[in-house]
Amino acid sequence: MTSSPSEEQHSAMTTAPTVYVATCDLAAQLRGRAVPASREEALLRSGTGWVPADLAITGFGPIADNVFGSTGDLRLMPDPATRVDIPADGGLPGTRLYLADQTLPDGTPWECCPRRFLTTALEELRAELGVTVIASFEHEFTLAGTAPSPPFSFERYRTAEPFGSDLVTLLEQAGFAPETWLPEYGDAQHEITLSPAEGLVAADRAVLLRELVRDLARRRGLRACFAPLLDPAGTGNGVHIHLSFRDADGNPALHDPSRPGGLSELGTRFSAGILRHAPALTAVTAASPVSFLRLTPHRWSAGGAFLAERNREAMLRICPGTGPDAGAQLNLEYRAADATANPWLALGVLLRAGLEGIRRGYPEPVVWPESVTEAELAAVPPLPKSQEEALNELEKDDVVGGFFAPDLLTTYLAVRRAELAALAGLDDAECCRRIADVH
Ligand code: GLU
Ligand code: MG
Repeated sequence: MTSSPSEEQHSAMTTAPTVYVATCDLAAQLRGRAVPASREEALLRSGTGWVPADLAITGFGPIADNVFGSTGDLRLMPDPATRVDIPADGGLPGTRLYLADQTLPDGTPWECCPRRFLTTALEELRAELGVTVIASFEHEFTLAGTAPSPPFSFERYRTAEPFGSDLVTLLEQAGFAPETWLPEYGDAQHEITLSPAEGLVAADRAVLLRELVRDLARRRGLRACFAPLLDPAGTGNGVHIHLSFRDADGNPALHDPSRPGGLSELGTRFSAGILRHAPALTAVTAASPVSFLRLTPHRWSAGGAFLAERNREAMLRICPGTGPDAGAQLNLEYRAADATANPWLALGVLLRAGLEGIRRGYPEPVVWPESVTEAELAAVPPLPKSQEEALNELEKDDVVGGFFAPDLLTTYLAVRRAELAALAGLDDAECCRRIADVH
């Protein structure tokens, strides 16, 4: 007989009938399996089974060609810190969610696990730069099923009720520290922002947030869609990744008021790595054909690979803080991401590219001032025009390719190219619809 759980374990046990343990895969889909709540302790101790070839499942369902085949076994090992409870609601039971690391059967890390990709990047930054990464993912999404309303309006905010208040409550209960819930500019577009948190926590929250939003919308008779564009002429749904560093004493490491944009030498050299490898990075952060329709000038997404103070066309925007705490608030915002990207991989490649900028001593990039004109920016490097171009850049870029275990890179390219092939011959509007169906 197993011993009865301690009081602490007991209070931590769920009243929901099932516990779902999941990973976010290369297609940015949350996939996993449920166990009865009575098995939660065993689940936390030894995980549940998973299959290597699952990594090659595309966003549209079919599996891409892959190196894993029908053999091998993995474990999904839940991280207790990621626990989120979705309460019962009307006739629908609640559930408990955990995010998992993928391990080999003996518990050692699997080199292709996307969450591990981020944890190792965070460890490298800590070891080499002595910094802790603080991040926050801002998400825009479209809430279909609500009446038309003006951009940023009180009317839109109220039209989205009770969904909006229920969402803020759910996120607060989950400990996600929501910061702003705002009616955005595009048709039926909204945005939710969370307070900055340690890098892994922030990326875990990004993974979960999308599911919590979509799940709640379904329960309220609405549909939340995070696709980068719902129609080619529409407003984009971006994911903006905010980054800052703390040194070993907890002091902000990106701020130096004596330098351009108030960005420290460390921050400027870090930015150099992201800008140098921008084309390959977009293959990971803007991960669908439609993503590259969004990444065009005059959309306030990212109109080119440049670093600028307060400029919403910049791939990397310096967001200065305000008030006495301004130095701690200053952060870099990477704007060329969207929700077709896996948050662990997206943050991981940005951190690794920034680290390469420092390691390899790339020249410091121009920090374009707020007053820069469009004519002055005419010569900044453009971003890839298509997903095909971005994936080819990733394949060619040995530095960025080198961030990945070989099988992870091969599978990533195979998954994204299979998705691209599935949309071959469709016009932009139809591509938008197909991507919207799965995001
Ligand atoms: N919707 C824009 C995007 O696609 C962002 C607008 C904003 O700055 O909030 O990234
Ligand atoms: Mg916005």
